[in-house]
Amino acid sequence: MRELSEKQVKVVLPEKDIPRQWYNILADMPTTPKPGLNPITKKPLTPEDLLPIFPMDLILQETSSERWIDIPEEVLDIYRLWRPSPMYRARRLEQALGTPARIYYKYEGVSPAGSHKPNTAIPQAYFNKKAGIKRLATETGAGQWGSALSLACTYFGLECTVYMVKVSYHQKPYRRSMMEVWGAEVIASPSDRTETGRRILEREPDCPGSLGMAISEAVEDAMSRKDTNYSLGSVLNHVLLHQTVIGLEAQKQFELIDDYPDVVVGCCGGGSNFGGLAFPFLADKFAGKKVRTVAVEPTACPTLTKGHFAYDYGDSAKMSPIVQMYTLGHDFVPAGIHAGGLRYHGASPIVSQLVHDGIIEAKAVGQEGVFEAAILFARTEGILPAPESAHAIKGAIDEALEAKEAEEERVILFCLSGHGHFDLSAYDEYLAGNLVDVEYPQEKIDEALKSLPQCDIA
Ligand SMILES: *Cc1c(COP(=O)(O)O)cnc(C)c1O
Repeated sequence: MRELSEKQVKVVLPEKDIPRQWYNILADMPTTPKPGLNPITKKPLTPEDLLPIFPMDLILQETSSERWIDIPEEVLDIYRLWRPSPMYRARRLEQALGTPARIYYKYEGVSPAGSHKPNTAIPQAYFNKKAGIKRLATETGAGQWGSALSLACTYFGLECTVYMVKVSYHQKPYRRSMMEVWGAEVIASPSDRTETGRRILEREPDCPGSLGMAISEAVEDAMSRKDTNYSLGSVLNHVLLHQTVIGLEAQKQFELIDDYPDVVVGCCGGGSNFGGLAFPFLADKFAGKKVRTVAVEPTACPTLTKGHFAYDYGDSAKMSPIVQMYTLGHDFVPAGIHAGGLRYHGASPIVSQLVHDGIIEAKAVGQEGVFEAAILFARTEGILPAPESAHAIKGAIDEALEAKEAEEERVILFCLSGHGHFDLSAYDEYLAGNLVDVEYPQEKIDEALKSLPQCDIA
């Protein structure tokens, strides 16, 4: 062990230190999430319920209670193209804040798709290929998940169809180009390709779409073809499992410099980059170590801080499993805030349970403060962050300023989940003074209660 030398900023691991196993927090949680339910029978899900859309390997990972799950060699071979990802000490940001805190960030923007999402897209494509599947259907909001899965499908020779939320399809044309370069077919959702899409368009021809709707379309597509499965980029247990490579590497990086975080911060949409970074540290916490974890979400989509902890559908057409999670209701249509990846109505059942049990802290922040943090970060550290990731930066800066106030040496680690090179129109809006804070109205949250499914499982 050695300490970070006075000027060093990057902590890099050699390729041989890529984790060989994913960490499964289900093995250690004090209370595990209630079982997912079949959306029609409302009985606990069986593997057979999921087989029409997922390969058996992923279904088994979804409910596994094994603490460690081996990463296949074929997946490691692809991870090696950019992993281990670097961990940085944000010295210039610390200086600008005048804080005694030490701020570290794990940078996932080094992947070819520019975010953490390939960490799960790669194994998902691999396990589907192994099961004999030829084509994957999925949804995407801002386009990060769609591009990650397009990339993964291209590595493994699978076809990929992406239903992209219509408003983003028009706002982010270059994400679409990127997916098409990697060989995917991209369709604006709601579309006339599915029953669900046609029904929505009949009612509302100009519907801007939502993640819930796009999920319904992709699931319907996958259900209707034998050679096609569905793939989800967040929320599910196996997705968060795959993302734990982030936290496992960070733990090794801290060991190298003989330091350890007091607080681990991540932005939370469905919860996958946050869970991926935080879960290995929560394993330490369960073993008695003192470490806080903070999930940061937008006030425009305050799932963890204001949502109902209840059983709800994962999509608007009620085709996906019913799970217990924090939810704003499956009919949620978000305000057009720019952090497209943080606009889902629900959140990971595991993260939700841990928030409910008081193990994870959650907070919501407004987008003005988020972009202010993003600009400060870009002007000190240089990297232009994704607006989603900027929520984590804002969370980390708040911690650092609190530490300054209290004159304490807090060690802060956050996940810089991706770069914002495709989000420049959002930055333009901010710089032009057009971005305002959006609060999701309480009446709407109350109203959502009425649409929650009645499930009498104890
Ligand atoms: C998708 C995305 C998120 C939000 O998804 P999580 O599952 O909550 O991680 C955050 N940051 C970036 C860069 C993303 O692409």
